Amino acid sequence: MAKTPIRDGESLLCIRCKIPLSLGSETEKRANGEAVIYRYYVCNACNYKLLDEKIVIKKDKEGIRILIEVNGALTTTEKTYVNRRKSPQAQQ
Ligand SMILES: [Zn+2]
Repeated sequence: MAKTPIRDGESLLCIRCKIPLSLGSETEKRANGEAVIYRYYVCNACNYKLLDEKIVIKKDKEGIRILIEVNGALTTTEKTYVNRRKSPQAQQ
């Protein structure tokens, strides 16, 4: 696991350079149809990265499943959105 960064008021500081980290994000699209979104803090000086949130979107015939992992925690939020195209009232 990543080391705990230093907090300075609102911002997180790089554990090496002690300067505020910027927020970044990346999207990874996998061959199996999954999409993974990473949100992280990054140091513009030394490129130190701290993963903040990982969102995995899975799509299968059951619907869309979203797995959220915050701060590297193993506690995962799972939500399933069932395909409701057959019942238009579910949209509004
Ligand atoms: Zn740094």
